[in-house]
Amino acid sequence: MLDVSATKEVHVKRFGAEPAMFMAPGRVNLIGEHTDYSEGFVMPAAIDFATLAGVSPRADRQISISSENFGDQAVFDLDFLPHHPRHHWSDYPIGVLTVLKEVGVKVSGFNLTLSGDVPLGSGLSSSASVEVATALAILEVAAKSGSTHHFSGPEIARLCQRAENHFVGTQSGIMDQFVSCCGAAGKALLLDCRDLSFELAPISPELSIVICNTMVKHSHAGGEYNTRRAEIEAGAEIIRLHRSDVRFLRDVTVADLERWGDEMLPDVLKRCRHVVTENLRTVAAARALEQNDLPTLGRLMAESHASYRDDFEASCKEADILVELASREPACVGARLTGGGFGGCTVNLVHTAEADQFGKKMLEEYLQATGIAAEIYHCHAAAGAHRI
Ligand code: ADP
Ligand code: MG
Repeated sequence: MLDVSATKEVHVKRFGAEPAMFMAPGRVNLIGEHTDYSEGFVMPAAIDFATLAGVSPRADRQISISSENFGDQAVFDLDFLPHHPRHHWSDYPIGVLTVLKEVGVKVSGFNLTLSGDVPLGSGLSSSASVEVATALAILEVAAKSGSTHHFSGPEIARLCQRAENHFVGTQSGIMDQFVSCCGAAGKALLLDCRDLSFELAPISPELSIVICNTMVKHSHAGGEYNTRRAEIEAGAEIIRLHRSDVRFLRDVTVADLERWGDEMLPDVLKRCRHVVTENLRTVAAARALEQNDLPTLGRLMAESHASYRDDFEASCKEADILVELASREPACVGARLTGGGFGGCTVNLVHTAEADQFGKKMLEEYLQATGIAAEIYHCHAAAGAHRI
């Protein structure tokens, strides 16, 4: 549980000044996996796990950043920031600071305290929540020292994505930062990653979001992620030879793949088929959620998982086991692996009255099947980043 006053207190003790406080949520993706960087559709929800950022200005041009999660502090000179990631948690806030400076925000010295309860590296996007909370905190300091820059939620999301892509070096899409900025309590967010238009779809209170953490993250994930991105690009390139109007896989249809897919390597065709069909499923799932058509929503989530497993080949046996166990439960409307893949968490939409029982059952049966103690998180769709 996040403790705002404890984080404030730590900041005051360490830096001797009352901080302005901001929070930015992590997220769970309900459906639409590996579609954002092809300008497709995603449907995540912000969740009630978040990162807090406490910030106070300094008189000099130093910045001091501390993370309660890492029990660590890093100090930099604003005029001599590192140009490259140091493979340290401070890469995320420094990346955001660098990008804000690049777009002309005049920043002065500050002290920043970060503290979060988003499980790290579990596919719930602790990284985006750190970036967005940091961006809001830095913009506050800049405004105090006379900066007139104002950014909308979607603009902050783009800047934070740029920090992650260009500074940290992760080629992630826009989904995580966008929903961390623009999420809404009780709602899922259907995002068109082409023009960043979005719709909020209410999640019925009769449905609970239960997240099951496999507690595994297979070490080849980073390399595989880059391979998938290259395969997607290779597939789009082949379709472009025939259809010059195609920019990304977003523009490609199932009929295109049937017609020209045999020009692709078999794996490339499978990756592309996942993305093309996942876009269709994601839009259909938003409609089903709006109409509270739970059987359709559940079927689309099941198909999404199967496609992620068989065509995109980014699942793992632990996640498959959790999804299989969940799908046997009448209380569970839909289950699938969420996040970048190769481990992390499954997302389950479960009838609220039976959610506790469902969580306990998953814990027991997963332990029996794998010998691993899962973690179960009962989450709610939460508001996007804000000042507190
Ligand atoms: P995910 O975004 O799925 O949680 P990532 O590997 O993208 O996984 O991001 C996790 C990294 O983000 C951590 O290893 C750390 O560097 C950074 N991070 C997340 N939360 C915090 C925090 N509270 N304080 C400092 N760094 C954090
Ligand atoms: Mg991340």
